[in-house]
Amino acid sequence: MITIDYDKCCWKDGKCTSGCCGDKCDGCVEACPSGALERKDLVVFYPDKCVDCGLCIPACKYSAITQSA
Ligand code: SF4
Ligand code: SF4
Repeated sequence: MITIDYDKCCWKDGKCTSGCCGDKCDGCVEACPSGALERKDLVVFYPDKCVDCGLCIPACKYSAITQSA
């Protein structure tokens, strides 16, 4: 199971707020092989789709995603 720290995540109100990403972050959502992450106003996590691969964690340049058992 992963947890997103929304204070660290740059995606807010449907856009990147750090100026680093253009119109998308190119991070966790692209790294996820199972469609468990989606950009809406915030990045939404769908636990039922997550396969616990951990690929989203190194994909986040802000270390906003952590994994727990
Ligand atoms: S752990 Fe894997 S399947 Fe789950 S959200 Fe992250 S990239 Fe997607
Ligand atoms: S990669 Fe990190 S900063 Fe980018 S949208 Fe995902 S959680 Fe937010």
